[in-house]
Amino acid sequence: MSQKQILIHYGELSTKGKNRKMFQNKMADQIRHKTKDIEKVKVLPHHDFMHVKWDHASYETIIDVLKDVPGIARFEPTYRVEKTMEAIYAKGIELFEAQTFEENASFKVVAKRSDRTFELDSMMIQREVGHVIGERFPELHVEMKKATYKLTVSIQRDAAYLSLISVQGMGGLPYGSSGKGMLMLSGGFDSPIAGYQMIKRGLEIEAVHFSSPPYTSPQALEKAKKLTAVLSRYGTPIKFHNVPFAKIQEEIKEHIHEDFSMTVMRRIMLRIMDQLLVKNKAMAIVNGESLGQVASQTLQSMSVINEVTTTPILRPLIAVDKNEIIAIAEKIGTYDISNEPYEDCCTVFAPKKPKTKPKLHTIQEMEAALNIEDLVADAVMNTEIMTIDEFYLKEQLAEFDSLL
Ligand code: ATP
Ligand code: MG
Repeated sequence: MSQKQILIHYGELSTKGKNRKMFQNKMADQIRHKTKDIEKVKVLPHHDFMHVKWDHASYETIIDVLKDVPGIARFEPTYRVEKTMEAIYAKGIELFEAQTFEENASFKVVAKRSDRTFELDSMMIQREVGHVIGERFPELHVEMKKATYKLTVSIQRDAAYLSLISVQGMGGLPYGSSGKGMLMLSGGFDSPIAGYQMIKRGLEIEAVHFSSPPYTSPQALEKAKKLTAVLSRYGTPIKFHNVPFAKIQEEIKEHIHEDFSMTVMRRIMLRIMDQLLVKNKAMAIVNGESLGQVASQTLQSMSVINEVTTTPILRPLIAVDKNEIIAIAEKIGTYDISNEPYEDCCTVFAPKKPKTKPKLHTIQEMEAALNIEDLVADAVMNTEIMTIDEFYLKEQLAEFDSLL
């Protein structure tokens, strides 16, 4: 019998009818994957909640995993004790002792007796435990409606279970429950946050990075890989596609007037994305565009760029301000990586005066100078793939140290 357990409350999936089982299984699989190196963890999905049970690891270790699992609204660490009132009092006091009380804090005890053979009924348990806690912590008063602390005592067949605090989860939907998309991931601030937002909304992600060596540095590519590693913390290991883009950019530089090069470049990126989507059985493109942020993100630019595809393009940051994006980057740990100075392919080839209102027919005429079909096929064929997990960052650091 496992000694330690956490009770997980689902977020929105409780409204999802017959897909509910699939949602729960996705979440359970992700938790199993993330705890596979921890001894004897059991993940047990039930209709209205999920249990994680284990024996040895600390509560903090498991809490650390659960707070980054999409689809969890909140969760409660639950403590198992012997089925005697003395053991219940002792654990209750211990749980309250770990808290720092605000002024005027209040509490209540909620008891549930599934085991009818237990000597006291739930009302009596509530009263007795409430009395002991009230005596031990005179600074707390009892409050039924809006108590600051709710101590739950559940008497079950095998033991008594107590819980006091409820930890807020990440929210959203279980990873992969909304299907799969491919994230256009630069080394900038925006695209990793776009990926995070979609992961949170249940989308499985593969990352696609366009790199242009020798014009772009190995460090720029490394940046994108490190960002992928951070994102994989919120999902499972992520497939990373590195698309060779230098030849295409040389061709654009040679044949397309500089002012229009950015629009053409982005249209080619989308054509490549479409082929990668088919190859990898994904259904949407995700990018980090935010309305009006730069020349390629005006409505006119977006409509001309978008014209090459009918695939849904998900732009979770379209209405998000830069300072809000930065705040999320700091929270999820992508800020320092995005802040590294290495430039990616778009910055290196950026025109001085990109058109903010390109005309579709002008762009189409210009593109006739390029053999787009071959360029796209070539880039797709030479795309390199690797899988990146959250330990990638640590491994890179260790490798770096060993070279010193
Ligand atoms: P970011 O901070 O994500 O780089 P940005 O504000 O700098 O975005 P752009 O450089 O115009 O904007 O890029 C818009 C979007 O196009 C990015 O958010 C990203 O999704 C995609 N993108 C840009 N450059 C690359 C690249 N080298 N590889 C993959 N995707 C890219
Ligand atoms: Mg950028």
